[in-house]
Parts: sequence; structure tokens; C-alpha cells
Amino acid sequence: MLRIYICPKCYNFRMVSKRPDAICLHCGNKLDICNINYVDYINMTQKKRNEFREDYKRRVMLYAEKMQHSDQEKSESTFL
Ligand SMILES: [Zn+2]
Repeated sequence: MLRIYICPKCYNFRMVSKRPDAICLHCGNKLDICNINYVDYINMTQKKRNEFREDYKRRVMLYAEKMQHSDQEKSESTFL
């Protein structure tokens, strides 16, 4: 069974057959698993895929922002 993965760095999709160490062929980054199944992915139009990618991008950026904020909070609390 193929799973759909996406790269958190260059946002390329990749189909991978059950492997825990899925790596992006473009940048070598560790891939994130998508919550879309293979059949749905195959039936997706290019537009749908782009929408999914944009949505994923937004989530990655939000997550990165959140991590930055928690880092700041940590360094601020060391001054107390
Ligand atoms: Zn990549």
C-alpha cells in the first residue's frame, strides 16, 4: 500500500510504500505523512493538490512560529 508523503522544506509530494524513513528526493529532508490516502491522491486534480500544499505550508509556518515564540518565552524566563 502506497502512502502519500510531503516534504516540509520544498513541499514536494512523494508516494512511498510503507517505509518509516521516507526522505525527500529533492532536498533529502525527512518527509511528513499526509492524511490523504493513495486513491484520493490519484483522483485529486492538480488544483486540489496545490490547495492541499498551500494548506500544509500554512500549517508548517504556524508551527514554526509557535516554536519560535516558545523559544522566546524560555529565554525571557531565564532573566527572572
Ligand atoms: Zn524536499
